[in-house]
Amino acid sequence: METTEIKKAVELYKKEHGYQKMELRASMFDMDGVLFDSMKNHAYSWHKTMAHFGLDLPEWEAYMHEGRTGAGTVNIVSKRQRGKEATKEEIEEIYRYKSDLFNTLPQAERMPGAYELLCKVKDSGVIPLVVTGSGQKTLLERLNKNFPDIFRSDLMVTAYDVTFGKPNPEPYLIGMEKFYTFSNRECENKAKITPNHFIVVENAPLGVQAGVAAGVFTIAVNTGPLPDSALLDQGANLLFHSMQDFCDNWEKVFEELK
Ligand code: CA
Repeated sequence: METTEIKKAVELYKKEHGYQKMELRASMFDMDGVLFDSMKNHAYSWHKTMAHFGLDLPEWEAYMHEGRTGAGTVNIVSKRQRGKEATKEEIEEIYRYKSDLFNTLPQAERMPGAYELLCKVKDSGVIPLVVTGSGQKTLLERLNKNFPDIFRSDLMVTAYDVTFGKPNPEPYLIGMEKFYTFSNRECENKAKITPNHFIVVENAPLGVQAGVAAGVFTIAVNTGPLPDSALLDQGANLLFHSMQDFCDNWEKVFEELK
């Protein structure tokens, strides 16, 4: 990507939000489809699980709901097909079934370029956070195995932290809050944290929507089957076609955001 394109995107963001400068301090990474190449497995598990419970969710549609909480996805299908929301018990049962099925599938690979990018981010002095709608219990263990020495448990937002989930800005607002607590614990000077201290990295339309609604400079990485417009139309500030592409351009991006 050309430096001028990045410069233009940053200038536009600053103008729209009334910031004089960026001062990037933390980067909030979505997990599925960004850090792991796991969306195919999720789409398949959702489709099979819903069919097991007499509900219809085609695999392609699962990509459209990517980023929602399990409860959010179940309720969209339940309301459409049965005219009512699922009960708390039903949601738990369906989500448990989906997670169990997902866990029987071959583990998704690390997204090519993701670890290299995270190392560059950390070396630049930017703190990486994970912000995901996923609620798997083995999540932290798996992140640490695949991305050694990158993430901290107190700088993660998962399904257990949120009420609404993406596309609501809540997960990213909680991420900023966690970083605020973390940086105030680490630093002598109580820092004032504002959205221009962050970037969001997302692969899904609803995720981009959440990052933009949180007021954060949102970088889309189009790793799936959707057209670029699906992400740009939600307000993504920049778009890369893979994590490797973003990784190769990190220095240029950081130069404009630091
Ligand atoms: Ca995702």
